[in-house]
This record gives sequence, C-alpha cells and structure tokens, in this order.
Amino acid sequence: MIKEYDLIVSGGGLTGVAAAIAAKRNGVQNVLLIERYGFLGGMATSGLVNPFMSYFKSQEPFKKEHQLTFGIFQEILDRLRALNGMPNEDKRVFDAEVMKLILNRMVIEEKIDLLFHTYVADVKKDKEDHIESITIANKGGLSSLKAKLFIDCTGDADLAYMAQVPCKKGREEDGYGQPMTLCFRIGNVQRSQMPSREKINALYQEAVQRGEINNPRENVLFFNTLQEDVIHFNTTRIVMKDATNPKELTEAEIEAREQCWQMYYFLKENVDGFQNSYFQVSAPQIGVRESRRILGKYVLTGEDVLSGQKFDDSICYNAYTIDIHNPSGTGTLIQHLEKGQYYGIPYRCLLPVNINNLVVAGRPISSDHAAHSSLRIMPTCVAMGQAAGTAAALALKNKILPYQVDSKLLREQLIREGAIRQ
Ligand SMILES: Cc1cc2nc3c(=O)[nH]c(=O)nc-3n(C[C@H](O)[C@H](O)[C@H](O)COP(=O)(O)OP(=O)(O)OC[C@H]3O[C@@H](n4cnc5c(N)ncnc54)[C@H](O)[C@@H]3O)c2cc1C
Repeated sequence: MIKEYDLIVSGGGLTGVAAAIAAKRNGVQNVLLIERYGFLGGMATSGLVNPFMSYFKSQEPFKKEHQLTFGIFQEILDRLRALNGMPNEDKRVFDAEVMKLILNRMVIEEKIDLLFHTYVADVKKDKEDHIESITIANKGGLSSLKAKLFIDCTGDADLAYMAQVPCKKGREEDGYGQPMTLCFRIGNVQRSQMPSREKINALYQEAVQRGEINNPRENVLFFNTLQEDVIHFNTTRIVMKDATNPKELTEAEIEAREQCWQMYYFLKENVDGFQNSYFQVSAPQIGVRESRRILGKYVLTGEDVLSGQKFDDSICYNAYTIDIHNPSGTGTLIQHLEKGQYYGIPYRCLLPVNINNLVVAGRPISSDHAAHSSLRIMPTCVAMGQAAGTAAALALKNKILPYQVDSKLLREQLIREGAIRQ
C-alpha cells in the first residue's frame, strides 16, 4: 500500500519549512516534509549562508516602518533572538546551529510529518498535467508516496524537472548561471589587528598575480560572525559549472575546497590578525546560487524588479538589488531599485505551466536570470514558502487546483496571517 498524504513538501530549506508550516496552520491534515540531510534550513545551514540580505525597502534604514517581510520570517527572527541566535538584528547575522534547532521545533510543534535523510528521486504522473506519486530513496530503499498536492522547495526544481516542467538555466546568451561558492570560517582571528578591506583586497590581488590563489573573484568577501574571533568567508567562486549535473557538482566541491585552503594560507601568511588563526569549518555542501528556473504562468523579469512592479496577485515583496556574481569570471553586477522602492512576486510565478497539482517556491520560481538574482535571498524565500503553503491549503480546502485559487482570496489570507501588509 502506497502511503497517501494531502500535501508533500520536498526540500526542508527555509522555503520548504515555511511552506509546510503555512499549509498545516491553514488546516491541511497530512503534511509530509522531506529533506535529504539530517537538519533543516538548506543554504542557511547546509550552505552556511549568512547574513540575511535586506528585508526592507530599497536603501532604507533597517527600521520597522520599512520592513517588507513578516509572517513566518518574523517568527524565525523572534525565535533566533530568544535563543541569542541573532543578538543584533541590524547586522542580520544569525547562528546556523540555533537556526537548525528552531526550525526543528517549529516543524515538530505543527505536527508535520518529517522525513530526514530522504531524497526525492523520481516522479510518476498519471496524467500529462498531474503528479500521482514520488519515489524516495533512503535507508529503507526505494519507496513511493502519493499526495493530492506537491510543493517543490528543493532549490533546484528537482520535482518540477522530473515532472517535465520546462526549465531554464543561467543567463540568456550561454546558459551559465551564477557561480557556486563554498562558504568557510576562520577562527582565532584578532579582529582589531585586521587591516581595511581595501588593503586585504590589494594583498589578495598580489597573491592572485603570484599564482597562489586560483579564484576568478575580484575581491575577498567576508562577514563578521557572532563570535568575536571568527570570520565568515563567502569568497570562493566556481564558474561555468552546472549544479544539477552530478559530475560538475562534484568537480565544483573539489575545486572550491582547494580555493578555501588557498585563501586560508594566504590570509594566515599575509594578513595581520590571521597569524594564529585556524581553519574552523567549511559548509557541509557548496552553495548553489542558481540552477533551474521553472517556466511558470508568469516570468518575473529584471525590469519588473528595477521598476518596482506590483501585481494584483503579489504574494510577497522584496527590494534586494539585482546581484549577479559573474557566471564566467571576474566581477559582480549590482543594480539598486530606487530608494524606498520594492517589487511584488506574483503567485503565477509559483505555478508551472504544465503541471496542475504542483507549486514551486523558493529560488527556482519562474523568473529571468536578473530577477532571480534579487528574489533568491533568504527572507524572500521564506515569504514565498509561506504563500505556497497557504495557497495549497486553500486549494485543498476548496477541492480545486492551485491555479484555480483566487489570488485575491490568497492575498487576503496572507494579510490575515501577517505575512504581507497590503
Ligand atoms: C554562496 C551563497 C551566498 C548567498 N548569500 C546570501 C546572503 O548573504 N543572504 C541571503 O539572504 N541569501 C543569500 N543567498 C541566497 C539564499 O541562501 C538561497 O537562495 C536560499 O537560502 C534558498 O532557499 P530555498 O529553501 O529555496 O533552497 P535551499 O536552501 O537550497 O533548500 C533546498 C532544500 O531542499 C533539499 N533538497 C534538495 N534537493 C532535494 C531532493 N531531491 N530530495 C530531498 N531534499 C532535497 C536541500 O537539502 C535543502 O535543504 C546566498 C546563496 C549562496 C549559495
């Protein structure tokens, strides 16, 4: 007997957690959340990505009146703060270990079924536009699970891809997506002795010229952490590799680890403050900024982002810059929205063109390369997850398909939930 759920959420990153919680709170009885690792959070924990990028109107100070993302994201902030996992909200730096703990608790409190160490490996359709079941792989071997609805929060649109939803990758001209980055941390740093960023970058360039560092990135990207002596590096850059190609993903992990250690030795030998440092940790997996983007009922564009478009079916709002780390080499393109501006993400971007019982949320929603570079940030992913879960619940309650959900009712419900304010 194949077990049947009302809703299966694939992928326990921030998006998937929010989707499962929202669905459950809106009355869906049987919700299963599937995650390939033994903890939740996705890039926020398995990629060690930090800090939250801005969840405020463009170029405005971090004050409540400018905040754009609320709801489950606000709950995450509050819970992090309560456990000292985000002592200074202005800096938006959080503790990944506290994040793992609070996400577990949030999911367990909602009585969501959770399967860790389980990989969604295949999809079976009973009609051209309908997923009947998924195949999962775990220590029990291969098994099938059915659901009325599915939400794909795998970050790579795995479920959508397996169900033959048309997907795009990367930029228009050559299909290369944003580079992958293995984040790492260095401990026992004397922060007070560190030179300016300009000086570190100049020393870095010299080391690159000497052939000691094999990294196309133009400078050293680093952030403070919650520990006084630990510095977080988001600076390795693996270009022209496809995160959904297993061979290239493997090569990327290997190349990135070499870059991490090159960077560590460079810092230890050349930069004040790092003389007695040690290589503390690298992320459990390389960070994937961009892979598949589904073709949905609307494709959000870079122009929509920069012009601050709002839509009748906006399910959340964002104002983060267009931020494209060069897919093939050096340089990073940053384009700001006008001061005080922000844009909406239409519900239609979460709806694949050809599969009716599937909603996609998080970074692979339907957008172009430029819009993707803005909407992919963690706060907005949580907001998209909450909207996807709420939409699935409305669909199930009314015995309709997600594309038949009235976006006006969806928005009203999201306002009631405190996820959006207008
Ligand atoms: C290097 C880097 C730096 C970044 N910097 C920032 C930053 O500073 N601030 C910011 O706000 N955002 C940043 N981002 C963006 C942000 O981290 C991600 O876009 C966001 O976290 C994506 O969330 P998600 O839940 O949609 O996907 P993910 O976080 O990728 O979650 C997907 C989850 O699904 C699981 N999964 C995947 N496939 C399967 C499968 N087949 N079966 C079962 N489980 C599966 C994964 O293990 C994972 O837990 C950065 C991203 C990267 C890579």
